[in-house]
Amino acid sequence: MAIISENKKHSFKIYSSTQLRYALTYVILTGIVLLFLNLYCSEISQRLFYQNKQTSMLEKAQLAANEVASLDVLTASTASAAVNKIGTLKVTRLIITDAHGMILYDSSRETGKNETTYALFPQIITALEGNDVFTWQYQDSAMQSEAATPVIHYDTVAGCVYMMEYDPQQGQLIHTLQSNIFTITVLLELGLLLFSIIYASRFSVRLRKIMSSMRIIQSGNYSHKVTLGGHDELSFLAMEFNDLTERLKTSEDKRRQFVSDASHELKTPLASIKLLSDSILQNDMDMETIREFVDDIGNEADRLNRMTLKLLELTKGENNPEIVDAEIIYLSPTIQRVVKMLSGIAESSQITIDMDLHDDCPILIREDDLYQITFNLVENGIKYNTPGGILRISIHRQEDMTVLRIADTGVGIPPEAIEHVFERFYRVDKARARASGGSGLGLAIVRSMVERNNGEIHLQSTVGKGTTFTVEFPSFDTEEEEEEV
Ligand code: ADP
Repeated sequence: MAIISENKKHSFKIYSSTQLRYALTYVILTGIVLLFLNLYCSEISQRLFYQNKQTSMLEKAQLAANEVASLDVLTASTASAAVNKIGTLKVTRLIITDAHGMILYDSSRETGKNETTYALFPQIITALEGNDVFTWQYQDSAMQSEAATPVIHYDTVAGCVYMMEYDPQQGQLIHTLQSNIFTITVLLELGLLLFSIIYASRFSVRLRKIMSSMRIIQSGNYSHKVTLGGHDELSFLAMEFNDLTERLKTSEDKRRQFVSDASHELKTPLASIKLLSDSILQNDMDMETIREFVDDIGNEADRLNRMTLKLLELTKGENNPEIVDAEIIYLSPTIQRVVKMLSGIAESSQITIDMDLHDDCPILIREDDLYQITFNLVENGIKYNTPGGILRISIHRQEDMTVLRIADTGVGIPPEAIEHVFERFYRVDKARARASGGSGLGLAIVRSMVERNNGEIHLQSTVGKGTTFTVEFPSFDTEEEEEEV
């Protein structure tokens, strides 16, 4: 239930996708750029048309004005004659006026009509003031251009020539050009939008694949893997994620194994205690037997106690792989302390301890760890020895390593068991180990402590002849350290 509500809390929505937001921002930005380009292109095309038209219209108007200016007298009939002389000008309307704006010739008026009309168009007024003028307007898909120029006769304005061109074709051309640019822009934007949506949804599909894998793993399925093709950041993320899950799986497997091993091991002495106490309660026993049973209960309780202490020691080491309180230590005083502590057991088991501790040199280690390592190995060397056997403890320096060797002449370890003796709860001979109070945790603790102090441990063993444990630590070179200081 909790997982479902968590999932709901983190449910993914396409419109809140970062990738989609990026894509849309990109589309909007390119849209703005394209709009400006669009406006610029249509402005440029219109200007080009304008300049072209202006030049050609004014040229035509000036041609006509020159022809009119060459007349001696400017009347309606001389103006018509001049127009006929010029020939076709290809304009929609041509007007010639006198200096007051009175129309002398108008191509749109029927010939022969002799009314007096003034053409007071703004263009004509400007031309009569002595200026050339050109105006242009675009309406109803047609281009209407008007040009007017004064007729200069002996340095005075004698009249003006006005012409107008109504050009639907050119208007159509501009219109087509502008609508083409607009269509291309819209198509480009749509394409971009489509591409962005496809890209963003492809990205979010891949992202969701990783997220759903995370949820599967969250629910406890550590063997699940994310399968994501490609070589982009997401596929690398998926690979990293798979590595992480693999590590999680390994540590989860170890934890499960540990819990199951530990509960199995703790069950045995507890079962014995229950059995022994039930026997006392149910059977009619004499005092001597009861004492014997209670003694056994005490032994089992001691075993439980030892086992829990060792388990605590082991988990302490695994949970704190970093050593913060390492010191510079010489091995021999610690070894001598351990031997002194175990000499009683060695004596009662008739084992002789032989020490060669001359070649000692300092190492960087946590002293409690060194004590525990030596204690477990020496204790095993006594426990798994045979009466009258020898236990040799030596230290020597080998290149930049300090080597501690603990060799016994005991029962030895069969070759197939050698690789397992460092595992938790592993015992070669369960009955013997139990009889000697063994928990199967001693060597696991030794290995974990050796490794966290940057050391290595190896063993050699021959059944019936004995076992040698070799522990190596990097020597601590005091001279080098002083030089560095
Ligand atoms: P235990 O508490 O049972 O001694 P250890 O982890 O110390 O647990 O040892 C694991 C097993 O390895 C022992 O049960 C024993 O069978 C074997 N072993 C350890 N040390 C020696 C040794 N010096 N000689 C022979 N067998 C040994």
